[in-house]
Amino acid sequence: MTTTTDNGQSETNIFDDAIRRLDRAFAYAEIDAEAVERLKHPRAILQVAVPVRMDDGSLRVFEGYRVRHDDSRGPGKGGVRFHPDVNLHEVKALAFWMTCKCAVVGIPFGGAKGGVVVNPKELSRLELERLSRGFIQQIGDFIGPEIDIPAPDVYTNAMIMGWMMDEYSKMHGHRTPTVITGKPIPLGGSLGREDATGRGAYYCIRELAGRKGWDPKQIRVAVQGFGNAGQHVARLLHADGYRVVAVSDSKGGIYREEGFDIPSLIRFKNESRQLKAVYCDGSVCEMVDAETISNQELLELDVDVLIPAALENVIAEENAKAIQAPVIIEVANGPTTSDGDAILNEAKKIVVPDILANAGGVTVSYFEWVQNKQGYYWTEGEVHEKLEEIMTREFNAIYGLMDQHSIDMRTAAYAHALNRIGQAIEAVGTQSYFTGGP
Ligand code: NAD
Repeated sequence: MTTTTDNGQSETNIFDDAIRRLDRAFAYAEIDAEAVERLKHPRAILQVAVPVRMDDGSLRVFEGYRVRHDDSRGPGKGGVRFHPDVNLHEVKALAFWMTCKCAVVGIPFGGAKGGVVVNPKELSRLELERLSRGFIQQIGDFIGPEIDIPAPDVYTNAMIMGWMMDEYSKMHGHRTPTVITGKPIPLGGSLGREDATGRGAYYCIRELAGRKGWDPKQIRVAVQGFGNAGQHVARLLHADGYRVVAVSDSKGGIYREEGFDIPSLIRFKNESRQLKAVYCDGSVCEMVDAETISNQELLELDVDVLIPAALENVIAEENAKAIQAPVIIEVANGPTTSDGDAILNEAKKIVVPDILANAGGVTVSYFEWVQNKQGYYWTEGEVHEKLEEIMTREFNAIYGLMDQHSIDMRTAAYAHALNRIGQAIEAVGTQSYFTGGP
């Protein structure tokens, strides 16, 4: 679905595309139609301009957004993205997915999201700090521990969350760790948050593997995007014996039929910012043979499990037919368009949808918020145990709905989310209550 922007350019309206899933799921959910109507309209949208003094003395003004999509089940929750392609449609879609995701895992939050139009790789560390603090100065009255709680997303990290929490605390005159999650551990972050998104996806894959009777050594995996989410799911699968045969970053990918030593790749990538086929022994890394491939080629590889873990809209009408993997685990938000979805369903692929597969991150963000409120901190083992319990329970509930109605897993996940959101909306009354209906 495309629209024309003010400057005449064609732009994909990813929000409209995202909410098309609601109508399909409504048929399998036990909720009032009013609830679905409400979810088609974000609750509040804030657009801001963030002036930043650059290191050379010049001034740059960055555009930013915060969208609160729905707060029926609790305060809005969702990350802040720093990326040159951020736009309002995207932030609205990401906020909508957060509403659904929090409902899927049954945590008491609604959905929200924020973004700044910037290429952070072009900024110095000091400029990045000024931008992060400046963004909070602009949205500081729109967010809050009981209103809307940001977290990291693409190209934002724990240190940025620390700056943002500090700025909010200064604005409000008291230290407020509950306003943001994904903070550094010494500033109130939770143990286990760093790998929570990848770990949540890993628990989903483990459940699926149990149902399918997979032998990990026989399963070839390709991961698109080797950042926070992609690295950790690859690491955990590799540790279980899966063959991770392809990985990529924004510059392209590498492929090796025998699989990669994932801890070596992670170390090299994080130290050098380069994705190279390496094997590391101690501090010495050696190149290993591998093919270089494009991100598009990675998606179309003959593998058993494909994990898109970078950006949205990478599987669309144009390339969905070329996807060979029978199983797709959506670690990125919105990697498949609704047109792409129809093609994957037709081809009987199993797609573990984003609102389930990547929900581990927000689940541990919830744990962080709870710990901050309590002022009492859990061990990493406790965090893993609680995360595992939630992800396993919700994966199996959604798998059960899928089997019960013979539907795809995405529709089942949305129906599952709608049931929970609908109950909260109906609890305050819908037309049938107010007009004395049945
Ligand atoms: P990140 O910034 O840590 O990593 C992003 C990775 O994607 C990097 O390796 C980057 O090089 C790569 N990339 C960027 N553009 C690309 C392109 N065009 N093609 C291929 N790779 C590209 O971000 P992240 O936190 O790992 O987030 C990745 C995805 O996971 C996003 O969709 C995000 O919304 C989603 N997600 C993240 C979390 C979390 O807790 N981090 C939680 C839920 C969902």
